[in-house]
Amino acid sequence: MVVAIDGPSGSGKSSVSRAVARRLGTAYLDTGAMYRAATWWCLEEGVDLTDQAAVAAAVDVMPLVMGIDPAAPTVHVDGTDVGEAIRTTEISTAVSAVATNLAVRAELRRLQRVIIAAESSAAAADASFSGGRGIVAEGRDITTVVAPDADVRILLTASEEARLARRSLEVHGAADAAAVEATKDQVLRRDRDDSTVSQFHVAADGVVTVDSSDLDFEQTVQAVLDVVEQ
Ligand code: C5P
Repeated sequence: MVVAIDGPSGSGKSSVSRAVARRLGTAYLDTGAMYRAATWWCLEEGVDLTDQAAVAAAVDVMPLVMGIDPAAPTVHVDGTDVGEAIRTTEISTAVSAVATNLAVRAELRRLQRVIIAAESSAAAADASFSGGRGIVAEGRDITTVVAPDADVRILLTASEEARLARRSLEVHGAADAAAVEATKDQVLRRDRDDSTVSQFHVAADGVVTVDSSDLDFEQTVQAVLDVVEQ
């Protein structure tokens, strides 16, 4: 079974998708982490992010290994565990520049399809994650481009207010007016930049929308599981 989940930042997409994968006993793929890892790698290699050809060439040879066990997902680049390094403000600010590079998108989408196919095939028991029951893959273009044939396709949305409050809690540990204001620019700018490559605020044909604005974490996980079980 393949479950594809898209949504903007602050929709709760990553934590919800991971919890859903654990409940279903499937693998879990965070495609945003792949774009973040590509950004980390380019900066590490001293690549000028405005040089499209250089960025594409660097990502082509990036030794990326995604750990897809939802109990402990990992991201390694050239043997280095970058799980924490890819979550810094520096990476969050720079990632859209790399993610809007069409050659980078083509390469990462290819890798994503390889991982999804391995986990959804009958031979999955021999694959890197031993669950062998399928995969939950989340991002911005999974329901539309990477896995349009997924068994279940969900757009996880939330109001701008709810998304800003959640991101602010994550980044600043608070959701008061000042903390929300400090997060606002970054979240809205990334939304705008990301919208140039994929339209993830509107559900494509056949994609079910789950609005988490008024749901807590557990209710959101349950709402997604309800769609899966329909
Ligand atoms: O989900 P997350 O916020 O970690 O994603 C980081 C960035 O990766 C996004 O802002 C977007 O630029 C890019 N991304 C993408 N396509 C995906 C997943 C993420 O362009 N499928």
